[in-house]
Amino acid sequence: MRIVIATMSHETNTFSPVITDLDRFSGGRPEPLSGEEAVAVYSGTASCPGGYLQAAGEFGAEVVVPVIAAAPPSGPVEDDAFEYIAERIVAAAADGPDAILLDLHGAMVTRSHEDGEGELLRRIRTVAPEVPIGVALDMHANLYPDMVKLATVVCGYHTYPHIDMDETALKAGRLTLGTLAGRHRPVMAWGNAPMLPHVMRQGTDDFPNQALQDRAREMEADGALSVSLFTGFPHADIENAGLSVVVVTDGDPDLAERCRDELLERAWEHRQAFVYQVEPLSESLDRAEKLAEAPETDGPVLLLDHYDNTASGGTMDTTEVLAAVLEAGLADLAFFGIYDPEAVARMEAAGVGNEVTVSLGGKLPMPALAEQSTPLELTGRVRLLSEGLFPATVAMSRGLTMNMGKTAVFRVAGVDIVVISRHIEPFDPGCFRSLGIEPTARRFLMLKSRIHYRVGFAPLVAHIVECAGRGVCTSDYSEVTFENVRRPIFPLDGVNSREGL
Ligand SMILES: [Zn+2]
Repeated sequence: MRIVIATMSHETNTFSPVITDLDRFSGGRPEPLSGEEAVAVYSGTASCPGGYLQAAGEFGAEVVVPVIAAAPPSGPVEDDAFEYIAERIVAAAADGPDAILLDLHGAMVTRSHEDGEGELLRRIRTVAPEVPIGVALDMHANLYPDMVKLATVVCGYHTYPHIDMDETALKAGRLTLGTLAGRHRPVMAWGNAPMLPHVMRQGTDDFPNQALQDRAREMEADGALSVSLFTGFPHADIENAGLSVVVVTDGDPDLAERCRDELLERAWEHRQAFVYQVEPLSESLDRAEKLAEAPETDGPVLLLDHYDNTASGGTMDTTEVLAAVLEAGLADLAFFGIYDPEAVARMEAAGVGNEVTVSLGGKLPMPALAEQSTPLELTGRVRLLSEGLFPATVAMSRGLTMNMGKTAVFRVAGVDIVVISRHIEPFDPGCFRSLGIEPTARRFLMLKSRIHYRVGFAPLVAHIVECAGRGVCTSDYSEVTFENVRRPIFPLDGVNSREGL
């Protein structure tokens, strides 16, 4: 048995100005990984390719890896990057494999295709019409009909933060290869609900998504092969953004439809619980100071600058929360971080231990927003310079090397600001520890993150305060313009019934 394993993964924030080119998919290498090198890098890691490779091993399959290309979330994928990656996957598919296992995101928009994954599958089906195709999708997928129609099985994560990527791909791989071996006859049903859950309310430690994912797992234990509820990615102004469900059963379309309908109904019932309530920034900072002063507080208070996080397509260079923190005089604070290669170069030129004045952040225009972020003129000391590589050790991406690019730690008035040259989401405490900063020893931490920080930081902190700043991951839908998403949709429109929608 010879199978193809490939990754083309991107969560597209259509409001983001951050360019998504081939370099972003290459993770700091000259081109995306492939072949034996990719197998060596991903084997045994907490990732989708890691899960697929395990499934291949179980079935004794020979593996062909044409490309592993995953880019951090950002604006629409440039056409030449999409073509480069798609061509490699389609060529491998045309070479007569017995099965194809794809690690896709499900919310990829390219310059030319609103449904990027559907376009990839359409091209694969022109050269491999009958080959079983297994697809693993992120919980933030915005599902389109072709993603389901053209695949053999589709499985999504049950966790956010995403700590079951390998498990999801292992399930999709086993089902696909098991189908090839004649053990299953998968049938699928899918559907969506007219709702755009706020990302800040999608965590699976919280109601309602925890309860919904628990119910999906119960359905899997009760006979469905795979039950996936996608909370969707709302920062994509495309027709099918929002919540959806796909169910795979063994030759039982009625069961698939029943499971789908029940989950969509439950999600819709709890739509209000998916709405995020924004607190004014000044109130959040006051609250953070009081929490830090309280005698019973044992550990850092974490400030979350959640309007601008990499894992949702943020520029990672907006400065509003940092400016407010400096203005309020919060000291003994470590902040990850600001994306600003120019500022890192200035600090490199100044050298470790020296004082330097830089114009920090606020450099990337955000045409989708009425209000822009501005650079901060800051004078401080360069504490450390680094090449920015560290190993991920938490359940998300464990075993892979994280790459922040050239990195500087810049100290301004008791605040250590990590300044990076490649976008990464701060979910692993290694992002501080690799720079000599012990997060648990600080009074305050500040992260540009939304939910993923929980995987590595929730156990380390005493309190979490969510701070409304500025950025293209805004938790206030009124700050961006939706023109293409299907309407009416909750909560953009005051719809309180699914009838007739
Ligand atoms: Zn996701």
